[in-house]
Amino acid sequence: MHDVVIVGGGNAALCAALMARETGASVLILEASPKEWRGGNSQHTRNLRCMHDAPQDVLTEAYPEEEFWQDLLKVTGGETNEKLARLVIRASSNCRDWMRRHGVRFQPPLSGALHVARTNAFFMGGGKALVNAYYRSAIALGVEVRYDTPVAEVEMDGDKFEAVVTEGGERIPGKACVLAAGGFESNREWLREAWGRNDEGEWPADNFLIRGTRFNQGVLLKYMMRAGADTIGDPTQGHCVAIDARSPLYDGGICTRIDCVSLGVVVNRLGERFYDEGEDFWPKRYAIWGRLVAQQPGQIAYSIIDRTVVGRFMPPVFPGVTANSLPELAAKLNVPVETFVRSLDSYNAACRPGAFDHTILDDCRTEGLEPPKTHWARPIETPPFYGYALRPGITFTYLSLKVDDTAAVRFADQPSPNLFVAGEMMAGNVLGKGYTAGVGMSIGTAFGRIAGTRAAAAAMGRTVPRSNIDGRH
Ligand SMILES: Cc1cc2nc3c(=O)[nH]c(=O)nc-3n(C[C@H](O)[C@H](O)[C@H](O)COP(=O)(O)OP(=O)(O)OC[C@H]3O[C@@H](n4cnc5c(N)ncnc54)[C@H](O)[C@@H]3O)c2cc1C
Repeated sequence: MHDVVIVGGGNAALCAALMARETGASVLILEASPKEWRGGNSQHTRNLRCMHDAPQDVLTEAYPEEEFWQDLLKVTGGETNEKLARLVIRASSNCRDWMRRHGVRFQPPLSGALHVARTNAFFMGGGKALVNAYYRSAIALGVEVRYDTPVAEVEMDGDKFEAVVTEGGERIPGKACVLAAGGFESNREWLREAWGRNDEGEWPADNFLIRGTRFNQGVLLKYMMRAGADTIGDPTQGHCVAIDARSPLYDGGICTRIDCVSLGVVVNRLGERFYDEGEDFWPKRYAIWGRLVAQQPGQIAYSIIDRTVVGRFMPPVFPGVTANSLPELAAKLNVPVETFVRSLDSYNAACRPGAFDHTILDDCRTEGLEPPKTHWARPIETPPFYGYALRPGITFTYLSLKVDDTAAVRFADQPSPNLFVAGEMMAGNVLGKGYTAGVGMSIGTAFGRIAGTRAAAAAMGRTVPRSNIDGRH
């Protein structure tokens, strides 16, 4: 029997496996995907958000604990747990040397990376290289990995973990277990149930695309909920970005994002604008647009720009629809021409002269327009014009198993002695709603490491002083 069984094969699972193995436990990873698709959503990532009090290798200036915390407080609207959030923040300040020891390399951000050079450390080769490095290191240390092994059940004796049972019916016992099997973002049925029907009688989730892995079906989240584990969060909350409507259903990754929203206007399929495209810097707003598009009829919208802004944003992977006049663009996009042209004409007429500067909250804004565009508002009048159809792209869901700083799964508010959880399966403890770029990996790394250390200790009958793993040392 293994000391620690780890379910999942992404960042949180690998951090847990490495920590458990480093403390001497025997470790088995059970990953649902085939080897070539290993690494879940983590393989699509680029960076993690890190606290630092002074410039550090790839990170410029300082990003102190208080600023990170205030950023998190703002985006979540207070729907976060301060103690756990601060634990993640502090842990993000000292995890990179450990990551490097396991083969992860960092690089300065490339252009078009949402202006996060100060706050976020970028992985050389992206998340795919990170998970490959972790797998290599884990296997070299003697961690066993089984691919194509989706786990269907978790056998418990009261609150004590006994074994997992695979989809194929195999029972795999362990002395302790870490669940790190992602959210339920890839489960379209569950998304449908969570989002329900809108006033038009549509099922919005039918039009969602999944930006990451197809393997995060939420099977174990649901299983643990039924088994009475404590949960936290709203099933409709998550990270949801507006992505190119032509993206594949799964695994489109970051290149399907459309980053020109704040440089133009967005209309729905009726040809009407519906939100302030220039409300704030794009890195602070990109994660609300998936939800905004999800609330529009048909769950589709169109980002419209003209030639003047080409080259000012990361080019999307697919070329936009182009036209030499606004009516022609509307017709090509299949949007009612008259309403579309009226929306664009009203917008153009409402733009006040100002000094355009996309790197600050500039004074180019509309006047007398509803909804307004508060920054970077310049008339869209120079052909060719471009249109990109947008769909909601789900990154990950926030409904989670509830934890405290030990990462233990809880039943009736009591921690299990040997069942732990990390990553997206518990990220909702910190992220009730909203998002700040790079914090998903910060949460998974912090809690993966805690869960692995505690699972190993539980398996080997040791106690773990909290200061060793809560990021305060
Ligand atoms: C396109 C994209 C870009 C992103 N970019 C960033 C970024 O730059 N920075 C950042 O911080 N976050 C980013 N995120 C979010 C980030 O991916 C997650 O927060 C993080 O990877 C979660 O790690 P995890 O280990 O919990 O989940 P995952 O990496 O998704 O791993 C879950 C694993 O569980 C496995 N699994 C699922 N069900 C089962 C089962 N029943 N049995 C066995 N195995 C199972 C899956 O195969 C998968 O390997 C991005 C996400 C996407 C989709």
